[in-house]
Amino acid sequence: MTGTVYLVGAGPGDPRLITLRGAEVLRTADVVIFDRLASPALLDLAPARAERIYAGKEPGGPHVSQHKINGLLVELARGGKNVVRLKGGDPFVFGRGGEEALACARAGIPFEVVPGVTSAMAAPAYAGIPVTHRGIASSFAVVTARCAPGHDIDLARSAMAVDTLVILMVAAKLPEICRTLIEAGRPPDQPAAIVQWATTSVQRSIVATLADLPAAAEDAALGPPATLIVGDVVALADDLAWVQEPANSADAARVSAGESALVDQRVSGLVREPRLG
Ligand code: SAH
Repeated sequence: MTGTVYLVGAGPGDPRLITLRGAEVLRTADVVIFDRLASPALLDLAPARAERIYAGKEPGGPHVSQHKINGLLVELARGGKNVVRLKGGDPFVFGRGGEEALACARAGIPFEVVPGVTSAMAAPAYAGIPVTHRGIASSFAVVTARCAPGHDIDLARSAMAVDTLVILMVAAKLPEICRTLIEAGRPPDQPAAIVQWATTSVQRSIVATLADLPAAAEDAALGPPATLIVGDVVALADDLAWVQEPANSADAARVSAGESALVDQRVSGLVREPRLG
């Protein structure tokens, strides 16, 4: 009998932010194919017998091609396996979940999409920034700073279309993005925030003006994964930032080195994460 492919959102980082349905399908998985940004702790929800396949894309490193992943999902399901495709955040938000769902649909493989808490919502929330707020912002957009080759991003087009902008895949391009937004008409003194590793123990965020943020982020050595939030709502973080973040960059670097080591160990299959309760 053909198995089912579950495209599951793992949430933004903290494993407890997976949905009940996501945890439920993980518990019955025969195979879990997981991404770099999906929390490693979630793998322990799968049965011990379940095969775990890493399909993450390291920045600048080797990666399993999307074509190969699509093929694998179809082949495993045809072989009767229930496959959980565990993706960071929400599978349909810049997660290529649509491409994987299409591969299943075209091959006649039953599939289910389990939405997840996207970093586009969690990063602002964990930095104390409501993306809408009565009297301040009544609209927001989620856009990417990176695009498929051949499709230029049109940040300038989204720049003035909504009150709050949430921009993903931002880290390396921060100066360019902020400049583009200012040129498109965003005030240089508008508040902006960048949040790295939101919802994890190494979350760090910085609030500055749109003009000053790139330098501030560089001083603080904030790199990927990071989400940028631009708009007057960012000022609310002064009162609403509720997460205790690492006190300084040295602290964060120490924890961060630990997290990278964890990722490496997970990839080589050596680590057993503590079980979730
Ligand atoms: N499907 C994912 C997004 C994948 S694109 C989701 O819904 O969250 C990867 C981008 O997401 C990163 O470059 C970064 O901009 C953002 N991101 C993912 N995890 C993050 C985190 N813990 N903190 C901040 N940004 C994060």
